[in-house]
Amino acid sequence: MKRLSILLLILFLAFGLAGCGLTTPPEQSNGLSEREVSPGALRVHFLDVGQGDCILVQFPDGRNMLVDAGKNDSAVAIIDYLEARGIARLDYLVGTHPHEDHIGSLDTVIQEFPVGEILLPKVTANTRTFRELLEAIAGKGLQVTTAKAGVNILEEEGLSVKVLAPIGSSYNDLNNYSAVIKITYREVSFLLEGDAESESEKEMLNSGADVRADVLKVGHHGSNSSTSPAFLSIVKPEYAVISLGADNDYHHPHPTTLAKLKKAGVDILRTDERGTIVFTTDGKNINVETVK
Ligand SMILES: [Zn+2]
Repeated sequence: MKRLSILLLILFLAFGLAGCGLTTPPEQSNGLSEREVSPGALRVHFLDVGQGDCILVQFPDGRNMLVDAGKNDSAVAIIDYLEARGIARLDYLVGTHPHEDHIGSLDTVIQEFPVGEILLPKVTANTRTFRELLEAIAGKGLQVTTAKAGVNILEEEGLSVKVLAPIGSSYNDLNNYSAVIKITYREVSFLLEGDAESESEKEMLNSGADVRADVLKVGHHGSNSSTSPAFLSIVKPEYAVISLGADNDYHHPHPTTLAKLKKAGVDILRTDERGTIVFTTDGKNINVETVK
């Protein structure tokens, strides 16, 4: 059986790739999950951008969404990654909150790609990075949609993208303004927390929002200020993705967060250890690959 698979793979590589002229580089699978995923899939890529967040979502119908764009120095890597996957347009662009490790390269991404809708939480930052983002938005004549609880980015048969937070309008910590996004494709869901901390997590629970998800993009790079036990027990993820740089100055992830996830039996995937992490789902099965 194994020999047959290898033979089929060789035949595919020899004829399949040559025949259809694929430009996308083949991804290295590390065999994390071998469940079959049929065509018509949703793909969620957690890009390894060092200490920061950048998530590409490819919807089954060909539309794309980018949530955050790493730091200022990640622009070339992000644009190369998107172009290598044939991304010609970003239908939805989300800046979860105005910290540099999330919106750093959004300005360049906006200049580089046609953008449909852009969503940002209603909060500003007195930084050069934030001003550059606003200039890029104005330069393209884009209107900003406020990212807040209750906003539905997409709501279609079998597919929805909803903003679950921020719920409040005033927080002491900029992290709690983070747009928290829930993507549901048939039976499979992803919860992208940005840098939301326990205050926002508590508000989501109190609001009765459906936070349950198969894949949790852990809040605030695995800091101890996020992933409260109550929140984790309701989300009940199978996978937790932590987006962070190796040996970062913030000592992320916090050992307590890792311990909480381990105790809950969650499969922890870190971009500093595995590189870019790609989930593919047909709405029922989930396949995980990594791209170094
Ligand atoms: Zn951050």
